[in-house]
Amino acid sequence: MAYVITSLCAGTRDGACLQVCPKDCIHDAGAQFVIDPEECIDCGACAVACPVGAVFDEADLPAEHRAAPDLNRAFFR
Ligand code: SF4
Ligand code: SF4
Repeated sequence: MAYVITSLCAGTRDGACLQVCPKDCIHDAGAQFVIDPEECIDCGACAVACPVGAVFDEADLPAEHRAAPDLNRAFFR
């Protein structure tokens, strides 16, 4: 996985990332949106589109969002 959606999405959940994803790999998980790690091609379009900066390259993930990759993965198990 390269891109992950953090809990910063919760409260906005506007679906802007979904509109620009070329792989349709972003899904509504209820509290927030999540990215399917098997389908994501790491294009970064979702991160640019997000109005609240909720999407990160996993390599640049701030420490306080360390749980985000597992949360994204868990939805697709
Ligand atoms: S990085 Fe690209 S392919 Fe991956 S979720 Fe974001 S928009 Fe979709
Ligand atoms: S664009 Fe950002 S706030 Fe909107 S649904 Fe996607 S991750 Fe959540």
